[in-house]
Amino acid sequence: MNQSNDNHMYLEGLDYRSGKLVHIGIRDGKIAEVIQLPEGKGKHPFIAPGLVDLQVNGYGGVDFNTAPLLASDVYRAVQLLAEQGVTTFFPTLITNTPEAISEALKVIISACHAYPEVNDAIGGIHLEGPFLSKEEGARGAHDPELVRKPDWDLFLRWQEAAEGRIKIITLSPEWEGSEEFITRCSESGVVVSVGHTAATPEQIAGAVAAGARLSTHLGNAAHLMLPRHPNYIWEQLAQDTLWTTVIGDGFHLPESFLKVVFKVKPENSILISDCTHFAGLPPGNYHSHIGGDVILSPEGRLCMADQPKLLAGSAQSLLWCVNQMAGKGLLSPEAAWNKASLKPMELLNGEPQIPFRKGLPANLVLFEQTEKGIEIVQTIRAGKVVFNQTKNEKDED
Ligand SMILES: [Zn+2]
Repeated sequence: MNQSNDNHMYLEGLDYRSGKLVHIGIRDGKIAEVIQLPEGKGKHPFIAPGLVDLQVNGYGGVDFNTAPLLASDVYRAVQLLAEQGVTTFFPTLITNTPEAISEALKVIISACHAYPEVNDAIGGIHLEGPFLSKEEGARGAHDPELVRKPDWDLFLRWQEAAEGRIKIITLSPEWEGSEEFITRCSESGVVVSVGHTAATPEQIAGAVAAGARLSTHLGNAAHLMLPRHPNYIWEQLAQDTLWTTVIGDGFHLPESFLKVVFKVKPENSILISDCTHFAGLPPGNYHSHIGGDVILSPEGRLCMADQPKLLAGSAQSLLWCVNQMAGKGLLSPEAAWNKASLKPMELLNGEPQIPFRKGLPANLVLFEQTEKGIEIVQTIRAGKVVFNQTKNEKDED
């Protein structure tokens, strides 16, 4: 399947789009050549660009939002995410005290310095808060005492602690001074995303005009009851230039809503996991520092122990989301994969992404299509094999 020496390796697999056999040569962590091969003998896995998750609060018991967080914890989460085909992700820090946010940023950055694997995996940091709505429902689980109006100096302090690696900020444009803050963020290259918001149509239009480019998990963190129209969901859907992320775990949004989002924004919608640190853990009863006691069901749903109708966040990986969307027929397997790989990169880079292009970082996944959906065979990040299914099976023997 692949061979490697120090800085050179190659992969052979079926292009996930066409099913045609391709040979991909990798040198110094980058794609160096792509050659179409004639129909080969034997079974080959599919080959696709690595998954990119713009919103990850934690994984496998590692919570980026709970102190103490160690650099080695971040490394462990990176390794576990590789098993799920995630080559790039955005650790997401939610509303907290300024000091706690700074501290978490510093740990993540220290992990980037200590582990090349972490440095390669972290596409940027997503700051979700604290400049969010104070309103119940829109605010979600963010602490009402700690949400506050946009503060550029404070943001600069965090950006300094993050060594410039905050690349996405979710905020609500209902605060006074939002437009100026959004313009400054945009000019500094940070993607501003509208979320956890109770903004008026005018405020949403103002945010877009000021440079906001994304909506965060549209349809979630919303009031249970909304006026039929206008409301902030319609307004964001109707803003043509606004990209949107949706949580594709199969529990957070009804199929009808997802279907509409994919129809209205076929080219600018993105799947995210928004997973909590319960993702990757076995089913059972757990305690959450934000929500109290929670239950992770055998079906993969995470809910409050005392109110099982209420979700307590997501406990599934981005790969699960791809399988859900394709499995329910809401997207073709190729479109589902693209919305979890190429599309987030297109948003960040500002131009359509061509998979397997020469010169791109070799962030690739080999997978098999099984009855249960896509299963990861191998994950390659920056030209290094960071997960190998066969090897892990042998290790377990
Ligand atoms: Zn959120």
